[in-house]
Amino acid sequence: MSEIERSAGPSGIEEMLEELALQLEGAESLSAETIAREIMRIGFRCRRCGDCCRGEENSVVVFPFEIRVIIADETGESWLEVAGPPEEGEWDCEGNFHTLEWRLRKTGRDCRYYSENGCRIYGARPLLCTTYPFYLEGGRLLWSECRGLGGEIGTEDSLKLAELLKRRQIVEIREAIELLLKYEDFERGEPSPFGRCIVHDSEAVHEVAWSEIPGALGRRLRRSQKW
Ligand code: SF4
Repeated sequence: MSEIERSAGPSGIEEMLEELALQLEGAESLSAETIAREIMRIGFRCRRCGDCCRGEENSVVVFPFEIRVIIADETGESWLEVAGPPEEGEWDCEGNFHTLEWRLRKTGRDCRYYSENGCRIYGARPLLCTTYPFYLEGGRLLWSECRGLGGEIGTEDSLKLAELLKRRQIVEIREAIELLLKYEDFERGEPSPFGRCIVHDSEAVHEVAWSEIPGALGRRLRRSQKW
């Protein structure tokens, strides 16, 4: 979920929750075996090229529980070193920026955990990374561009991947439900350099100081084309 519709008042949110409950039911009833057969038909073998971890397009949505797993794995890192708010969001009438997601932080154009030897947090990487290039949408298996597509994959590995995809779909829907249940709507307004950055997620409404996200305020203000 990247944006809650502007018109979503209490009844709009109720409708979205009902829709998500139906989606959750659908996701829980998905057959991992069927998805696995489809993966085998398409074919996939990771070539360890790192293309999905590098470049401008690399942007990994990460949930609060996943951030905690990475913090535990990479002892010493803070929440904001692991993840930050994306550039997509809306401004309220007091000039605060609101967003609904966390994304893994980057070093330049690349994921900050990418190294020449591969992912530095392999065992703790987010669900989105473990299932790339595949994803489920309304129960349908879809995929992004990837050099590994068409490669040979065994029955066991395709089933493992299918189970992860199903889990990711369920987690994404549950996270969206929790987010909506905690969501506090706001009056839309204009960007301001004096506002705050507010991230709504499945656990809470977090206030992040712009000073903790180098360059972020300037980028968002430029993006809003007001400055
Ligand atoms: S967390 Fe690991 S697998 Fe995911 S984008 Fe970063 S380097 Fe790649």
